[in-house]
Amino acid sequence: MPKTLRLILGDQLNYEHSWFRELNPEVSYVMMEILPEAQYVRHHIQKLLAFFGAMRQFSDYMQSQGHHFIYFSLDAPHNRHSFAENIKSILDTDKYQRLQYQEPDEYRLDQLLGSLSEKLDIEVEMTSSEHFLSERTEVKDFFKGKKSFLLESFYRYMRKKYDVLMEGDQPLSGKWNYDADNRKKYKGEIPIPRLQMAPPPLQDILQAIEAQGIEYLGQVDLNQFDWPISREAALRFLDFFTQNCLPYFGTFQDAMEMNEPFLFHSRLSFAINTKILHPREVILKVLESWQQMPDKINLAQVEGFIRQVLGWREYMRGIYWAKMPEYADLNFLDLKNKLPEFYWNGNTKMRCLQQAISQSLEKAYAHHIQRLMVTGNFALLAGVDPAQVDEWYLGIYIDAIEWVEITNTRGMSQFADGGIVGTKPYVSSANYIDKMSNYCAKCHYQKKKRYGEKACPFNSLYWHFYEQHRDKLGKNPRIGMAYRNLDRMKPEEKEKIMIQAQEYLSNLDHL
Ligand code: FAD
Ligand code: SF4
Repeated sequence: MPKTLRLILGDQLNYEHSWFRELNPEVSYVMMEILPEAQYVRHHIQKLLAFFGAMRQFSDYMQSQGHHFIYFSLDAPHNRHSFAENIKSILDTDKYQRLQYQEPDEYRLDQLLGSLSEKLDIEVEMTSSEHFLSERTEVKDFFKGKKSFLLESFYRYMRKKYDVLMEGDQPLSGKWNYDADNRKKYKGEIPIPRLQMAPPPLQDILQAIEAQGIEYLGQVDLNQFDWPISREAALRFLDFFTQNCLPYFGTFQDAMEMNEPFLFHSRLSFAINTKILHPREVILKVLESWQQMPDKINLAQVEGFIRQVLGWREYMRGIYWAKMPEYADLNFLDLKNKLPEFYWNGNTKMRCLQQAISQSLEKAYAHHIQRLMVTGNFALLAGVDPAQVDEWYLGIYIDAIEWVEITNTRGMSQFADGGIVGTKPYVSSANYIDKMSNYCAKCHYQKKKRYGEKACPFNSLYWHFYEQHRDKLGKNPRIGMAYRNLDRMKPEEKEKIMIQAQEYLSNLDHL
C-alpha cells in the first residue's frame, strides 16, 4: 500500500469506519481544529466545545488502539489554520504518496477538498463516509422529473429498501404513518426522565477558544454538559432514550412545556450528525427495545422515531445535494426584514419566543416543534430575510451542520424554496402554540386577541402574512381554507387586524 495520509473532518467521527478495521503502519490520520471552521458563523459555545471535544476523544481513542494520528489543536503553534496549509506542512516533513478523505457533508467543504489536488503535489482520493442510508444522489434520482419532492413517498421507499416495520411490501399493521396519534399536549402526567452523566473534560478547549478570541453565542456550565461527545457516552444516551423516553416519544413529540427543554426527545442529533452513532444502529436499537418491551412501547412511538431518522434525515440530505448551491440563496417570498434583536438575547414579552430562545442560548438546543412553530414561525410571519434566519439556526444549535440546517430552515420552516420540502408554509396563530404548550397561560400577550392592547402578535401577523403573499400563495390548494376564512372576515375586522400587524412589524425589536 502506498504511504497514505487520511484526513478526518470534525463531523466524521465514525468509530466503525472500515478505515479503522486494521492497523497499518503505512497509514497516518490527520485531524485539525482550525479557525475558519470555528468562525464561518458565530457558533454557540457549547457547539464549539462539543465539536472540538468530540474530535479529541475520537483521536485519543484511535491512538489508544494503535492508529497513528497527527492532531492540530486550536492553540498548537504549528497550526496554520488551513486544511491545505497544514497538510502541506506534513508533506514537507514526511513522504506520503496519497491523501484520502471521506465525502464531506457540506457543499462548501466538498468544493474545498475537491480542489486540494490542485494545491498539493500528491494523489488525492475521496471515499465514502459509510454513514448515510442513502446515496448523495438517491433523492434526486428518486424524484427525477417530479416537481415536488414528497417526504412520504421517499420514506416509504426507505422503509421498503431496509425492510423496516414491513410485512412483505406492506407496512406493519397496515399503516405507514401514526402522526395523528402523536400530537398530545404534555400535562405533567408522566415524569420527564433525567439522565445524569459526569461532564466531559472541556476546560482546556474553553481556554483555547477564549485565547484565540473566537466570538461565540450562548453560555455554558462545564459542570453540566448535556451532550454526548464520546462513543461511550453516545451509546449511553441511546440506551437511556430507548429505555425511558421512547415509550412516550411519539405521543409528546410536538408538545412544548415551560422550562422543560428536552421532554421525551432523544438529544442524539449531535452524536448522529458527527457520525459517532450510525443511523442504522440507532434504528436497530429502537426496534430491539420495542421487541423487548412490547407492553411498554407501542408501534406509534417507534414509527414516529424511525420516520425522523430513516425518513426526514435522509430526505433532507438528499434535497441538499439535489439543490445546492442554488438552494442557499432561495428567497421565494422575497423577505427582507432584519432578525429581531431578541433572537440573540431572549428579551421579549412573547413567552413562547422567550422560552424557546432563552433555552437555545442556555442549552444550544430546542426541539423540532420549538424550532418550527415558535422561532421559525415567528421569523416567517415577521418577514425576516431567510439568510439571517439561516445564520441564526446554523450558529445556535448543537446539531447544526449546513446540510441539515439549511434544508430544515430555508426549506421546511421559511418556505424560501417555494415548496420543495414543504407543500405549504408552516405558519400558525397563537391557537396552535396554545394547543401544544403551556406558554400562553403565562404570557404578557392575550392569545385570543387579534388586535388592541396586548393582542398576541402571532394572530395579526398570521393573517397579514397570507394577505401580503396572496399572489404567491393564493392558488395553493393546501391553504385554500385560510384564504376562504380571510375573505369571509368583515372588512372592518380585517382592517383592524392589518393595522395591528403593521404596527407590530414596525416595532419588531420591542415585542
Ligand atoms: P428527536 O426529536 O429525538 O428526533 C430523533 C432524531 O431524528 C434526531 O436526532 C435527528 O437525527 C432526526 N430528525 C428529526 N427531525 C429531523 C429533521 N427535520 N431533519 C433531519 N433529521 C431529523 N436537525 C439537525 O440535526 N440539525 C439542524 O441544524 C437542524 N436545524 C433545524 C432547523 C429548523 C428550523 C427545524 C424546524 C428543524 C431543524 N432540525 C435540525 C431538525 C430537528 O429539529 C432536530 O434534528 C432535532 O430537534 C434534534 O433533537 P433530538 O436529537 O432530540 O431529536
Ligand atoms: Fe406566544 Fe402569543 Fe401565546 Fe404569548 S399568547 S405565548 S406570544 S402565542
